[in-house]
Amino acid sequence: MRVLILGGTAEARELAEALAGRAAIKFVSSLAGRVRDPRLPVGQVRIGGFGGVEGLCRYLRTEGITAVVDATHPFARTITGNAESATARTGVPMLELRRPAWTHLSPSLCHRVRSMDDVLAAVNALGAIGTVLLTTGRRDLAVFAGDTRRRYVVRVVDPPRGPLPPRTRLILARGPYTVEGERKLMTRHGVDVLVTKDSGGDMTAAKLVAAAQLRIPVIVIDRPPPSPDTPCVTSVAEVVDWLDGLAGFSARGPSAR
Ligand code: NAP
Repeated sequence: MRVLILGGTAEARELAEALAGRAAIKFVSSLAGRVRDPRLPVGQVRIGGFGGVEGLCRYLRTEGITAVVDATHPFARTITGNAESATARTGVPMLELRRPAWTHLSPSLCHRVRSMDDVLAAVNALGAIGTVLLTTGRRDLAVFAGDTRRRYVVRVVDPPRGPLPPRTRLILARGPYTVEGERKLMTRHGVDVLVTKDSGGDMTAAKLVAAAQLRIPVIVIDRPPPSPDTPCVTSVAEVVDWLDGLAGFSARGPSAR
């Protein structure tokens, strides 16, 4: 078997760890190349876009890929859609590994919105908000650029390129974070509201616990819905089972066939 892991997440790195050393399964992890100094998974890695659906089809054929695992971030929907189209065209089976949504959200403090475009209205609706902590990544920050009233603390891995609000403090950092560290950050900067995507996972969940402890409201951007056409699992173990099944092995080994 030759497996393409579409990565860029902690789960994709865990999957690479789980597959390393299995003789029956060769794999290559793919990263978009967005982050300057990415955390690399074990094993073979390729970096950069494929060139849309056509390019991905070409890659699957020339590399002899026999299974695709989409372990990208729940908000990275373009690559997921491209992978669905390319695997449908080439007849390669595909599985989505999608980490569960967060359950740490305190209902009384959580305000859900559908997209970044709705965040500013939600901040305005909260009333006297002086400082906003944005942890939504470096894309789409331009929607806040015209807000001259509030202070913004923007935490990102790499510096954003587009316009930012005039009163912005940029913090370059990468998880995992601790609850204690997040509490300190929010207290030090006098944060009144936290803005986050519903990314799920443990790497960045500490901010939700810290916000709940400090009674800071959280604006949560809902996840895009999963595709109805692609099977989806939530754990690395389920992916390994699926691959074992494809490879003709059961999880108990070849003797169980
Ligand atoms: P996206 O909007 O879904 O994809 C945009 C384009 O980037 C794709 O069309 C593809 O280019 C390329 N691409 C994306 N993921 C790729 C991968 N794993 N390998 C090769 N090419 C890839 O993606 P995004 O939201 O910008 O996210 C980019 C990467 O960052 C993803 O791998 C994702 O797992 C990771 N990430 C995203 C977020 C987030 O909030 N979106 C957060 C943490 C990590 P071509 O069309 O040229 O193939």
